[in-house]
Amino acid sequence: MPLKTGMRCAVGAVLSICIGFVSGAEAGGKATSEEIAERLAGAIRFETISFEDSADFEGEPFRQLSSYLQALYPLIHTTLDLERVNAYTLLFRWKGSEPALQPALFMAHTDVVPVEGAALEAWTHPPYAGVIEDGYVWGRGAIDVKVGVILWLEAFETLLAEGFEPRRTIYLSLGHDEEIGGAKGAVEVARLFRERGIRPAFLFDEGGFIIDGYPLLPDMTTALVVTAEKAYYTVELTARGVSGHSSMPPRSTAIGKLARAIYRIEENPMPARLIGPVREMFDVASAHVSFGRRFAFRNLWLMGGVVKRSLLRERLSAPLVRTTFAATIISGGVKDNVIPELARATINVRILPGDTREDVLAHLTRVIDDPEIEIEGTSWGEAPVPASVTGQAFPLAAEAILAVLPEAVVLPGLIPGATDSRHFAGIVEEIIRFVPERLHMDQTSGAHGRNERIAVEHLADSVAIAVGMVRRAGDPGRAH
Ligand SMILES: [Zn+2]
Repeated sequence: MPLKTGMRCAVGAVLSICIGFVSGAEAGGKATSEEIAERLAGAIRFETISFEDSADFEGEPFRQLSSYLQALYPLIHTTLDLERVNAYTLLFRWKGSEPALQPALFMAHTDVVPVEGAALEAWTHPPYAGVIEDGYVWGRGAIDVKVGVILWLEAFETLLAEGFEPRRTIYLSLGHDEEIGGAKGAVEVARLFRERGIRPAFLFDEGGFIIDGYPLLPDMTTALVVTAEKAYYTVELTARGVSGHSSMPPRSTAIGKLARAIYRIEENPMPARLIGPVREMFDVASAHVSFGRRFAFRNLWLMGGVVKRSLLRERLSAPLVRTTFAATIISGGVKDNVIPELARATINVRILPGDTREDVLAHLTRVIDDPEIEIEGTSWGEAPVPASVTGQAFPLAAEAILAVLPEAVVLPGLIPGATDSRHFAGIVEEIIRFVPERLHMDQTSGAHGRNERIAVEHLADSVAIAVGMVRRAGDPGRAH
């Protein structure tokens, strides 16, 4: 039976523990939503942009943002150690009283993606103006993820003001180049951790959030506490042919071979399967869906095939059940009457946990079935090991969420995208992607898109959840 009953009970147990903690008395942050909105709007006004071309990088806005945060959060800046990694990534350390406890790590990033000139006009408010209007904070970074920067800092400052002293050492890492891969930020912090023998028990990074109108549970408030992510991997295909005059073409050209290879990849996807985190997601969701779906979600050993097929039908859900391939760049040829020697294609691959780079290359070799096409893997690697819902971090987040939002459904699961947290695979035991920002499904397109904005009204609750998470991380094993 693919779904172990132990696992199902464990998920149920986690939730009942969580419900046991619901007190409704968790006041959390002291600042009002409006005050937090002002602070976030201020952070948005610094144009801390990560450009594809590193020559366009400007350090000044990052320096100014750091000064701004220092003025907003004086206790953090006087009590915690602050290390500037490659000048702009901010690594805070809040020393715990019990060195035997493994540390915890909270993460976010201060950089944002640029807004192209053509898209500017489509914004209701200019993306770096930090406007608060119609109940929203508008601007680049409002969702991804200056809001996370502000929420974690608010939580730390609130706890410091209360006199909280963590038993476990807590790190906060605010990267400055996540949007271009994190090489100078998170990668470097991970290297420092490795070098210094710092091995956090768990980390929280962006990727999941609290969402209203989530397609799986459209009538609920759902907290996506993401336990798994896919690996980012890129493969180059090179086809060779014989160059010559296009008036006397050979039977097969480099471009023709390459086109056939891409067609075969699209027609022959990798096998689909329901991995642990996706099964756990359905198991939790099953309590909140109609009878028919509940039966399927709770009996995946029997109904897994049906669920898998329905996920595969939708572009949004298909990536949850298999490794995907997308042809993203193609090149070859210089002139309309010259047959080129070479043609190249880039295939971006998102590897499902459990599949390996070797599996991907073996699959491509088999389906392309053409020894004249070179297949070469270029970037990055394996998906981090999924975090367990019965570990330390998932229950900790679930408790903190339910203490503030008892009506929420806390859902584990998988995201198809990659986050900075992947650089900590092998260093941190449990990697969780969750920032307690709250959005409606309609707003999600704002991340990297137009009219990025976050509702003001939920910000105080978001800080209260962040406070609960940091408190529980720092003082493990106690009722909060
Ligand atoms: Zn981000």
